[in-house]
Amino acid sequence: MVKKEFKAESKRLLDLMINSIYTHKEIFLRELISNASDAIDKMYYRALTDKSLTFNKDDYYIKIVADKNNRTLSILDTGIGMTKEELEENLGTIAQSGSFAFKKENELRDGYDIIGQFGVGFYSAFMVADSVTVISKALGSQESYKWESTGADGYTIEPCTKENVGTEIILKLKENTDDEKYDEFLEEYRLRAIIKKYSDFIRYPIKMDTSTMALKEGTEDEYEEVIEEKIINSMVPIWRKNKNELTKEDYENFYSEKHYGFDEPLKYIHISADGAVRYNAILFIPEKMPFDFYTNEYEKGLELYSSGVLIMNKCPDLIPDYFSFVKGMVDSEDLSLNISREMLQHDRQLKVIAKRIKERVKSELQLMLKNERDKYEEFFKTFGKQLKYGVYSDFGQNKETLQDLLIFYSSTEKKMVTLEEYIERMKEDQKYIYYASGDSIDKIDKMPQTDILSEKGYEILYFTDDIDEFAIRMLMNYKDKEFKSVSSGDLGIEDNAKEEQTSETEVNKEIFDFMKEALSDKIIDVRASKRLKNHPVCLATDGELTIEMEKILSTMPN
Ligand code: ADP
Ligand code: MG
Repeated sequence: MVKKEFKAESKRLLDLMINSIYTHKEIFLRELISNASDAIDKMYYRALTDKSLTFNKDDYYIKIVADKNNRTLSILDTGIGMTKEELEENLGTIAQSGSFAFKKENELRDGYDIIGQFGVGFYSAFMVADSVTVISKALGSQESYKWESTGADGYTIEPCTKENVGTEIILKLKENTDDEKYDEFLEEYRLRAIIKKYSDFIRYPIKMDTSTMALKEGTEDEYEEVIEEKIINSMVPIWRKNKNELTKEDYENFYSEKHYGFDEPLKYIHISADGAVRYNAILFIPEKMPFDFYTNEYEKGLELYSSGVLIMNKCPDLIPDYFSFVKGMVDSEDLSLNISREMLQHDRQLKVIAKRIKERVKSELQLMLKNERDKYEEFFKTFGKQLKYGVYSDFGQNKETLQDLLIFYSSTEKKMVTLEEYIERMKEDQKYIYYASGDSIDKIDKMPQTDILSEKGYEILYFTDDIDEFAIRMLMNYKDKEFKSVSSGDLGIEDNAKEEQTSETEVNKEIFDFMKEALSDKIIDVRASKRLKNHPVCLATDGELTIEMEKILSTMPN
């Protein structure tokens, strides 16, 4: 039989995986159970939408079998199975998407980072097993196949016999070492604990043969071992549970079980709505930015379930672009199972849900801003840009939603402040909300244009993100106060400097003309200014665009 090699990049990753970057080896079980559950989801969905398939509820389950004599652990499911091609495709390559390529370009630093960024799911089996066998029969197929691999050196595929549709994964556990005891994954109590910890909310029964000692029939003091098949998980999906029964850890486990992220979520939100549209939702605001967040690869969206059946992995219509970092799921009994992607976009119920979710995320962020300022600043550092893009790209339409979530560095407070806080501190004679754009706080501090405003005690917001000024222009004003760049021609300051300026320009005409000539096409004019305090000269613009904006625009591709 020909042994096929894993694709090159898979091999490297597999090496890393086997040499165990993960400290919690036990998560391999979570991964395999989660795959089994996904496969049953697909089967369930097919059965519901295809009348020729008839199933009973009992037909869907996952079974864990530990065989101490052979040192094998099997995970069996009655899911949709895999064809020969699918075995090759799905198990022969790690991460089909461009994510690995992306990672390679960005250099593989420490292992954690790599694993952290992937759904390496299936391969985690190699953390505990010397060899992995997958026997599968796909729905609608007469044949079944056996995929086998002992790790990085490749895999084989051959026909085999399997009666029922579904998949069985057999792990030949590694030998114990001084540090690692792989035997524990054959112990009932240990398996039970792992399942409870990570997979309790899986909606299908996870069965296991459990042994108990029972009184032998017809005797009074003789006991015998009785093997009984038991369901280990509670099967109630977390989103159907009562919030009071759930702990922070439950939500965090759900977050990692679902691969929403590999960080700890900064915030979780659990919604149970019983109004006009009934739905449950669990949403997360991640702590770290997904590695592909600002690439085309990144797909926003929430998982969408209809009465507990997964109908879409990433439904983009549930979440606006400016909240695209939000992860999570929505389950509603008011959505039709047969709904198509196109229909979803126009679905009234879905729109209602999306609107509520948007409002809830906003109010949670506002609460964080109010009560957990440090946490919010951390959030803003990571995802604030996305909010600003939201303001910019919708032509200010999302003003109401987003303006109170923006924070900027303040010249007087020396920390991040909201627009509202700025307004509250405005001086009586101050007309505008002033801002200065530049590469960094340090650089803006040294800008000559800020001199006169600082001297008057006016607060200045520092715009250090390219997007800032563009976004603010879309907002136009905040609570009727207009924004004004420190380098704009008219700062709205009461002074009679204008006349003086003009006369001084006249007096110095000769030298100014000389400067103009020397700088020829680089400038339009040279004028005297009364604005400068600590600097001899500054650049100013007369038109719509500030110097900073022009700089940014000139670096953009046409
Ligand atoms: P992910 O689950 O994130 O897609 P995995 O590495 O866990 O990544 O699994 C890779 C793919 O292998 C799955 O997407 C699925 O198509 C297939 N697969 C894995 N386990 C099973 C299974 N038990 N039944 C059917 N397909 C499976
Ligand atoms: Mg998986």
